[in-house]
Amino acid sequence: MPERIDWLEDGSAGGTPFSPRFGDRYRSELGGLDQARDVFLKGCGLPAAWKGERQWRVLETGFGLGLNFLVTWRAWKDDPDRPTHLHFISTEAFPATGDDLCRSAEAHPELQALAAELKAQFWGLLPGFHRLSFEDGRVLLTLCIGDAKAMLKQQAFEADSVYLDGFSPQKNPDIWDIHTMKAVARCCRRGTRIATWTIARSVRDALSEAGFQVHKTPGIPPKRDNLQGEYNPAWTPQKPPALLGTVAARTPGHCLVIGAGLAGAAAAASLARRGWTVTVLDAASEPAAGASGLPAGLVAPHVSPDDAPVSRLSRCGLRITVQQASALLKEAVDWAPTGVLENRLDDQSDWHATWQGDWADAADDWSRAATPAQRAACDLPGKTSAWWHPRGAWLKPASLVRAWLATPGIEWRGSSAVSALQRTKGQWQVLDGHGKALAQGDLVVVAAAHGSVALGMNISWSAAGPAGDTHSVEAMHPPLALQPLRGQLTWRRRDADASGALPPFPVNGHGSLIPSVPLNGQPAWITGATFERGESRPLIRPADALANLDKLAVLLPNTAAHLRASNVSGDWQHWAGVRCATPVRLPVLTTMERPGTRSGEADESAGTLWLSSGMGSRGLCFAALCGELLAARLHGEPLPVELRLAAALDQAATARTASVPRKKPSSPE
Ligand SMILES: Cc1cc2nc3c(=O)[nH]c(=O)nc-3n(C[C@H](O)[C@H](O)[C@H](O)COP(=O)(O)OP(=O)(O)OC[C@H]3O[C@@H](n4cnc5c(N)ncnc54)[C@H](O)[C@@H]3O)c2cc1C
Repeated sequence: MPERIDWLEDGSAGGTPFSPRFGDRYRSELGGLDQARDVFLKGCGLPAAWKGERQWRVLETGFGLGLNFLVTWRAWKDDPDRPTHLHFISTEAFPATGDDLCRSAEAHPELQALAAELKAQFWGLLPGFHRLSFEDGRVLLTLCIGDAKAMLKQQAFEADSVYLDGFSPQKNPDIWDIHTMKAVARCCRRGTRIATWTIARSVRDALSEAGFQVHKTPGIPPKRDNLQGEYNPAWTPQKPPALLGTVAARTPGHCLVIGAGLAGAAAAASLARRGWTVTVLDAASEPAAGASGLPAGLVAPHVSPDDAPVSRLSRCGLRITVQQASALLKEAVDWAPTGVLENRLDDQSDWHATWQGDWADAADDWSRAATPAQRAACDLPGKTSAWWHPRGAWLKPASLVRAWLATPGIEWRGSSAVSALQRTKGQWQVLDGHGKALAQGDLVVVAAAHGSVALGMNISWSAAGPAGDTHSVEAMHPPLALQPLRGQLTWRRRDADASGALPPFPVNGHGSLIPSVPLNGQPAWITGATFERGESRPLIRPADALANLDKLAVLLPNTAAHLRASNVSGDWQHWAGVRCATPVRLPVLTTMERPGTRSGEADESAGTLWLSSGMGSRGLCFAALCGELLAARLHGEPLPVELRLAAALDQAATARTASVPRKKPSSPE
């Protein structure tokens, strides 16, 4: 059930929202707009404080009906001196519905269009982080669903402004207690400004104990006072040991990306949006020449009974990929949000059991039991266990790669095979096979899939000598645990009479079938794929076409029988590529550090060489997420995923042991 809100008919437009859970109104009797502007924006010196800044990060406790976000977004939009990026990070334990957000904004015409945009993305809010994107990615809302203390411990950024909001301290003391204030303080730098509408003694005490200096300021009548202040502890704040290696926040410069597949193009686009100039180099003459050249693939959430990290990451990734696809690609040509049916075969485990009660609706937004009509449309027996993923889609990765590479600030260079990397005079050079410098930059992102392994072994670092001079170190980086996994797909133009035999939407679960995707100007079906561990060449093997049909016979028996029978002319087409996977089957997004650097030792190259790879069978879901996570870690932005998930990606290519899934993992392929 969504959070219940009672709308009190008190003469105000749309009524006044009231929470039966907390026995309190969502906004002050003055109305939310005045409170948002006068208490929070003005209280934090906004918009003047963000003038001329590259990015501004607002942290809010208690998203409620989103009014403070909408008002801050509106102020950003109206300000010619706005920062390029506005980050708004808000915690919320009991998210409202999109309808209630819009109703709350009804009284404020200047907010209504923004509220409608917010509503369109306000779905699937299960516990954890959700990254919503507006204004072509320049206004980013990170919703942290869950207890504020727990959620803030999963963040790693420094806020520039803090709005302390929530129901009154008498009705909801938890959100105002010393533990929450300490969690907020952990996300502040010295000088971060803070504002709130309550002057309760307990709140002032908790704030001052957490290191904030606060003072009362006159409120708008009838309210006498508000509270403002800043983080300025009398002690040196001790940051808890970082789960992620500390990376000093960087100002945008010139970045070199090696590899123009999904991983490289996504990283390049995320950085270019933040003001980097980016050169993307690839050995091939065209972008998306590796695994990302696959004719079309599926984006669908991974489902596991214990909601494993890969499941949570797949949801974050799907949300970001679909945002990007709808902004950049042509629907029905390059992608289509068709929904995907997952045939679970003999798997009866129930992911939904984890998400009962308040969370059931949000869980349904991602994955729900397929209806009898959906199963019948695939000719599946009535007792077949199947999920319906309503947000699932098919997508042509090469189109997305090209769209990302067209982001202003990106230069694409084909036929540029990189053989080695060299750190010299505070810059990275990438070298070809003859040792000639191809390009030079402040930052390098290696996104060369399995080719990253060879590059990892050809890095020369500079190190400071005893007299302060620098010299080259040929130390070998520990081998990256990335494995090649060749795969082959089968596809063919769709016969005019095939409609009865093919399902109306894509199906996955044991291999996959995309029933209709435009290829070479005609609708085609695609099925596959095979998995061949250890093979790093994209070989076409005739036997794989039969293996794909055998798989399809398990997934969709009647469709497979029809396709087999219709192959009289033997004109099935084949496509093969090589996936790149880590032992833990999670992608890797990490910095590569100079070998032998002792912890605490200064290294001028620290945080300048990154690896984004190991996308496995889910590059369509994970690439955009890794690009955004890279940008967040580089610039001290709020993380788009919880710290523990970011840490799992950080270590994925050094983890020696593969985690054994408790159940057969569902695959988009
Ligand atoms: C058969 C098959 C089916 C798949 N189906 C799906 C699906 O349905 N859904 C899904 O999400 N994923 C699917 N995938 C996986 C997906 O295609 C990959 O996860 C994704 O494309 C990987 O992107 P990448 O950028 O990491 O690698 P790639 O696309 O392989 O890009 C790496 C690039 O690096 C370049 N390169 C390598 N070495 C060098 C060097 N030394 N110098 C310069 N350039 C270099 C290569 O030329 C290449 O362009 C499938 C994969 C296969 C093979």
